Amino acid sequence: MHHILLGMIEGWRQRRALRSLVERTPATARLLDLSPDEFGRQGIAALALDFDGVLAPHGADRPLPEMENWLRRAVAVCGAERVFVLSNRPFGPRVDWFRDQLPGVRFISGVRKKPYGDGLYKTGELASVPLSAILMVDDRLLTGCLAAIRAGCVPFYVRSPYVALRSSPRQELFFMLLRWAERQAVRLLP
Ligand SMILES: [Mg+2]
Repeated sequence: MHHILLGMIEGWRQRRALRSLVERTPATARLLDLSPDEFGRQGIAALALDFDGVLAPHGADRPLPEMENWLRRAVAVCGAERVFVLSNRPFGPRVDWFRDQLPGVRFISGVRKKPYGDGLYKTGELASVPLSAILMVDDRLLTGCLAAIRAGCVPFYVRSPYVALRSSPRQELFFMLLRWAERQAVRLLP
């Protein structure tokens, strides 16, 4: 639970950076808005991707087909050895899916959960790139986006995450509320 407490304390410290991120992110923002072909020009050499909400709805076993295409393009551009999944749930069939379908793409595991920067430091080491060249994509402000800001990586805030309201309404409503509360907190903090 330490990561939740850290999210609150560091969320307060980084509130201006978080607010600026929310304000410059369109409400429809999702990972498909980014073109891997632009990464070189943007100085991005490695990716740290959250899974739940970003590649598929919460708890899914594999990325959605549209994200699969995007991932293949990202791997072609960055190289599989520079694409990482940085999820607080790095286990289960999703790991097998990547091993079979996109070999070389690694899950970062065995690190303290976001917003601790450990997973991003590990990404930088394994990819041999500076932290400033890592794009962290997350649908949560106080976990992934905050981790990116603290570590000096580039945050991309997925404000329009994948949700599966019909199959898991309770869980999805909880996370929708959580994301909304994060945005409100960041907006309202003095
Ligand atoms: Mg997520």
